[in-house]
Order: sequence, then C-alpha cells, then structure tokens
Amino acid sequence: MMKTAEEYRESLRSIKPVVYLGGELVDSVADEPRFEPGINATGITYDFAHVDDYKSIMTTAGLDGRPTNRFLAINRSHQDLLDKLEAVRLTCQFAGCAQRYLTHDAFNALFEATWLINETHGGENHARLLNYIEYAQSNDLSIGVAMTDGKGDRSKRPSQQVQPDSYVHVTERRADGIVISGVKAIITGGPYMHEFLVMPCRRMQPEDKDFAVACAVPIDAPGITIVSRPAGRPGNPAAMFSAKFAQSVAVAYFDNVFVPMERVFIDGETDEAHIMTTNYATHHRHSCIGARAGFGDLLIGAGAMIAEANGLDYEKTPHMREKMVDLIKITEGFYACGIAASTMGVHDAAGNFRPDRVYSNIGKLLLANQIYDMHRLAHDLSGGLVVALPSPEEDHNPSTAAMLSDVLRGHPDVPYQHRANVARFIEDLTASETGGWYSVISLHGGGSPEAMKLEILRNYNVEARSELVQALFDRGALELGKGMKVDRQPGRCCAKGCNGDELVNKKVDDERISNVDLTRT
Ligand SMILES: Cc1cc2nc3c(=O)[nH]c(=O)nc-3n(C[C@H](O)[C@H](O)[C@H](O)COP(=O)(O)OP(=O)(O)OC[C@H]3O[C@@H](n4cnc5c(N)ncnc54)[C@H](O)[C@@H]3O)c2cc1C
Repeated sequence: MMKTAEEYRESLRSIKPVVYLGGELVDSVADEPRFEPGINATGITYDFAHVDDYKSIMTTAGLDGRPTNRFLAINRSHQDLLDKLEAVRLTCQFAGCAQRYLTHDAFNALFEATWLINETHGGENHARLLNYIEYAQSNDLSIGVAMTDGKGDRSKRPSQQVQPDSYVHVTERRADGIVISGVKAIITGGPYMHEFLVMPCRRMQPEDKDFAVACAVPIDAPGITIVSRPAGRPGNPAAMFSAKFAQSVAVAYFDNVFVPMERVFIDGETDEAHIMTTNYATHHRHSCIGARAGFGDLLIGAGAMIAEANGLDYEKTPHMREKMVDLIKITEGFYACGIAASTMGVHDAAGNFRPDRVYSNIGKLLLANQIYDMHRLAHDLSGGLVVALPSPEEDHNPSTAAMLSDVLRGHPDVPYQHRANVARFIEDLTASETGGWYSVISLHGGGSPEAMKLEILRNYNVEARSELVQALFDRGALELGKGMKVDRQPGRCCAKGCNGDELVNKKVDDERISNVDLTRT
C-alpha cells in the first residue's frame, strides 16, 4: 500500500534508532524539529504518488503487478527511465533533494548483480533481493543508501587500512546470516529512513572479499549508531526554502550488526560487486541529472523574479537576457543528457533497463561543475541584496519595518516583502549553508568528477572514431561531395588520378625548389 506523507511520518514512530544530533540522543526522530525539513522533503515523494496529475510518472507496476512508488521500481523500458527522470525533477522542484530515488538506483543496480551471481555461482541471492524489493514496495519504505564508506587512507585498499572499520565488512559468517562492522560516512536522510541498504562503494580485489558486502538492515538493528546533522536550516526565518525542505546527512557506525541471510545480497562476490557499483553509479548519476534540473528550475524562476523586483525587464536588458539564457542552457543542457541516456538505454543481462553510461556520466559531470556557474549567475542577476538584506525579524520591528519596506523597494509596483522573499530564497539556495550543501552534493554526490571522467573514457568508443578517420584516409573519402570518384584504382595515387609521368615531374620540381637558397629572399 502506498503511504501518504503523514503515514510515512507516523511509521517512523514505530522505529527506535540510536540517533545523535548536536551531541544529544534523539528521543523521537518523527518529532525532532531539526529533522522536520528532511521528513517533509521525503514526504513529497509519498504525497505526489497520490496526486492524479503526477501518478503516471510517480507510480508504476511493482513486482506483484500492483501500483508502487516509482522510486522503488525496477525499470523495464526507455519510458520507465524517462518517467523516473521526470519524477526526480518534479520532486526536487519542491523538495530540493527528495532522497528516495537513491533506493531506486540501488535496487536496479543490485538487480543485475544478484542475477549474475546466481548465473555464475548459483544460490538464492536474486530471489532474496526480489523478496526484499516486494517487501519494500508493499510497505512503501524509505531506504537509505549506505554506500560511501569512511574510506580511511585513500591511497590504501580496504584490506590495507590500519582501521579495518574504515569500510563496512563481514566479521563473521553464520549459517543463518552474517555479522558486519564498519562505518558508512555519508547517508542522505539517514535518521528518518526505515532501513539501510549497505553496499560497497568501490571495486574490491579478491583480498578485499570481506568488504564486498551488500545487505539490508532496519536502521534500528542492534549495533547501529547514527550520528546526524540537521536537515537544512530549520527554525531559521531567513531560510525561505530549507527551513521547510532539505535533507540531513548522517554517519552510520555498524558495530557487529547481525544481518539474517534473507537480507544478504552480495557476500564476497567481488566481480559482481563491481558490476553493482558501476551500475549504481550509472543509475544514480542519471537521477542526479533530474534532481539538479529541479534545482535549476528554481533558480531560473527566482532569477526572473528578482530581476523584475529590481525594476529590470530581463528580456529587454541584453546582459540580463544573456544570464537568464545561460541558466536555462545549463539546466536543460545537462537534462538533455538525461533524456539521451534514457532513450539510448539498454536492457542489462537480467532484463532490467539501464541508462546509457556515457550520457549519464556526461550529464552528471556537466552539473557537477556547472552548479558553480548556476550560483554565480543567480548572484549576478540578484545583486548583493541576497546577503545584505536585513533579517526577517526587522519585518516585525516597529522601528524599522515601515522604513525598510519603503526605501528598499525596487520596482515601484513590486512590494518590498516580495522582493525580500525572493532575495532570501536565492540566498538560501545559493549563498547560505544550504547553498554550499547543494554545491557539494552536485560535485561529489554519485561520485567525484574524476570517477565520471574515468567512466566516460571507459565506455566511449574512441577507437571507433580513430578508425573512422583512418577509413576516410584509406578510401579517399575526403574527396566526397566534390563530384569525384573516390575509389582508388591500381596505379593511381589519388581520387583525381595522377599518372606515373606526373609523379616523376613533381619530384623534379620539388628538388628544384629545395635547391633554392631561401635565406636570400
Ligand atoms: C550531500 C551529500 C549527500 C550524499 N549522500 C550519499 C548517500 O545517500 N549515500 C552514499 O552512499 N553516499 C552519499 N554521498 C557520498 C558521495 O557519493 C561521495 O561524497 C563521493 O563518492 C566522494 O567520496 P568522498 O566524499 O569520500 O570523497 P573522496 O573519495 O575522498 O574524494 C575527495 C577527492 O579525492 C580524490 N580521490 C579519492 N580517492 C582517490 C584515490 N584513491 N586516488 C586518487 N584520487 C582520489 C577524489 O577524486 C576527489 O577529488 C553524498 C555526498 C554528499 C556531498
């Protein structure tokens, strides 16, 4: 059954995770005001699945054929990828970051990996995953993706770390399950998820076998400690957006946590674990494109509004027009890569549908760098007001409110309060702690830029391009379109067709030229 946002919030009350926030143990996650924006943002994915206009993209058939949330579904077609991309953009227009597509990305990555494990080694891994996905779909779960390990010393492999808990690994194997320990360092929405999907974050060599583990655990499983940050800027009246919608990130330490066998999907199968990691990256970078396009939509709208509030018509002011077009070009440019990745996607070995790797990675690489241009353009359009505007408390100060609203107006027809709201909105998204959060998640979320560059080169057929150029040389095809026959005939050296005498004469001419003393001219 698909929950509403309210039912999701209520469901968190039955979970008792160990969560620390600001140095204190949290009594009830559902009632903690500093998590409120995160629960609201995740709640958007629940409520939108019930909105008639959004149902076609927010829901699809689950494994049992009944409707399920799009973010818990397995892709079967190009259209599924396009719908997911659109659903991510839609939810992020309202939530900034809506978290649950990470679960979609993880399910789809595990789908092929577990299938391959069973094809190669036998076993029940794929069936266990399908059971778990059905369980998640029928309970409409929120599942945190616990992939990024602490990693310790980056120059060393997991098995070489001085502190083995830098990476989550299997410490014990029992007949009925496994025991895991270690740290996952960055989990979006960590404290207000129902479960965690633990997955390896990098390629594991055979000696790292114990670190190649993927499994699902309830977030209140004994041995898990979650240390979290607030979601956004709750309670801050200047935080127009992130006081209401934002995401918390958390560290989760697993201290000898028992995982029953039916929730173990990968344990030591390093090759398939690598396929899972790569596929997750492809699916997730595709989702990141939708997420940041939603963010871009907010900046485009706010950019137009602040220009107007400042008294400028962005269509008639050439440099404002250019900045607006740049914002649109950036947003739709990387989103177009998401569309291309969807339409050029392929069925993987297990029958699941995966975005094209090159376009997913290029789209994510574009946004990772261009988020800084997006912020710059928003600041350029808005002016310094976004960080200089007196705080919202002044709006209620009898000594200043009337004066400020009079002298700080821009366009005479636009009320001060509206101008202030738009300025605070832009500050929140681009120049505040939340603004920094969006920069860093765009840059590193789904992997650092270097990881995308590697994937692009690994999957792009550069050799085919070299062969193309060679073929142009070989076939004389550079003469195409000039009305000449391009097939090379025996005894002919070019498409025009020189004969032997011409070549001998040319050689004599060349020698004559080279004998001229060029220094005299
Ligand atoms: C806001 C936010 C939310 C996130 N949410 C989640 C989530 O829900 N779940 C999740 O699992 N992860 C999440 N992530 C984590 C994200 O996937 C990682 O930040 C990303 O993969 C980079 O890893 P890192 O942060 O450990 O940085 P590092 O890997 O330490 O990278 C830092 C720099 O070092 C370089 N580097 C690292 N290792 C090497 C090496 N061996 N050789 C050469 N160069 C190297 C990198 O290229 C980069 O330039 C989130 C991140 C952010 C910022």
